Amino acid sequence: MTALRAAERTADSETDAQSSNLHVLRTAVDVRKRVRAARRDGLTVALVPTMGALHDGHLSLIKAARRRCDLVVVSLFVNSKQFDEQSDLVAYPRDEARDAALAEGSGADVLFAPSAAEIYGPGFATTVQVHGLTDRFEGAVRGAKHLIGVTTVVCKLLNVVAPDVAFFGQKDAQQAAVIRRMVADLHIDVEIETMPTVREPDGLAMSSRNARLTPSQRRQALALHAALLTAERLAAAGERSSQLLLEAAGRVLADQEISPEYVALVDRVDFQELHSLQDEGLMLIAARIGQTRLIDNLLLHAPARSDARRQPDEERLRTPKGDVITACSA
Ligand code: AMP
Repeated sequence: MTALRAAERTADSETDAQSSNLHVLRTAVDVRKRVRAARRDGLTVALVPTMGALHDGHLSLIKAARRRCDLVVVSLFVNSKQFDEQSDLVAYPRDEARDAALAEGSGADVLFAPSAAEIYGPGFATTVQVHGLTDRFEGAVRGAKHLIGVTTVVCKLLNVVAPDVAFFGQKDAQQAAVIRRMVADLHIDVEIETMPTVREPDGLAMSSRNARLTPSQRRQALALHAALLTAERLAAAGERSSQLLLEAAGRVLADQEISPEYVALVDRVDFQELHSLQDEGLMLIAARIGQTRLIDNLLLHAPARSDARRQPDEERLRTPKGDVITACSA
């Protein structure tokens, strides 16, 4: 531990002494103090929001943050407002000591692990809602409250930490798109980095929910990635019809007796469904395997056309779209 860190630890009544190089902070005030000190030293700051139960997917975000910025803040907060099922919230794995050790091992400097009362204090009455983009897929299946819970808590975390860069996983592609929209619409001064989905060696996208699968469900769950790969192969071979790509993916799921909640091919920025694959399209799958809900996605590319022109995402986010607005309501 450096002398500076030792001094801060002594001065900081809310810091646990459970790990040597990681500051565990419980309050927004303490996080702001720590970030302000870093800013005074001219350091850059990264935020990696998580709900804990860390796996290699989360750790890839922390490592990316470590590579990009001087101070890496990982938040650990099981956000009750984004759970649509009480049973899912109750079953959510919680082991702060394990998460702290893993976060530290991947390069985190600060673990912001607030209580529910710290985040949602008495009289809490504000929500942040991105419209349009949240009506479909995850928003439709899990209900509007899910993504409102996500944007509200992420907006709060961005306000507390005020990072230069915040890191999210492509695994939750719609969530990342909604956050990009929120940040653009509210002029939040942060860069959003989306990192690739980390998978098990057999292709299953890592998720804290995978631990709930029985061995046979675990085998069945491989069909999600297999379905995406089938569509990817067809797309690469020149198939542009959404219907045919979706049917091919659907057959792979059906072979494993999976009835998906949705399989769709969408624009990766606004999540509007694509009738055909012009350049690229994001294929989304959500399915229940037993009681466990899994999601996965893959960006499909059509073979290059000489006249293909891509519009950068940043440019498109600045383009006003009637159906995508953000509102803060008190
Ligand atoms: P969660 O703790 O589930 O809220 O996830 C925290 C962050 O980790 C989110 O930005 C997720 O998209 C990201 N994440 C979760 N699983 C993966 C994965 N398999 N690969 C990459 N990022 C992931």
